Amino acid sequence: MARRIIIGGEVKVGEWDLRFPELEEKKTCPVCSFEILEDDQVFECPYCGNVMHMRCVEPWIESKGTCPICKRPLSKESQGLAEGSQT
Ligand SMILES: [Zn+2]
Ligand SMILES: [Zn+2]
Repeated sequence: MARRIIIGGEVKVGEWDLRFPELEEKKTCPVCSFEILEDDQVFECPYCGNVMHMRCVEPWIESKGTCPICKRPLSKESQGLAEGSQT
């Protein structure tokens, strides 16, 4: 009756390796340039991967609908569905 435990089944090893050292680094919010703490609610842009305080980006996303860093279209409700925008 062996129990199989799969650790990190969906995490690619390469990806994990890349991300792990990042956690040790101090991250700074590119919007307010204050440090991002573990307790902070953060937003990670699906396009550029920048991590910023939710409280910093929320008003921006609400008014502009874009990422403040890479300026790609975002919407709070449909994160990740923002592709295929027409102008
Ligand atoms: Zn911030
Ligand atoms: Zn971005």
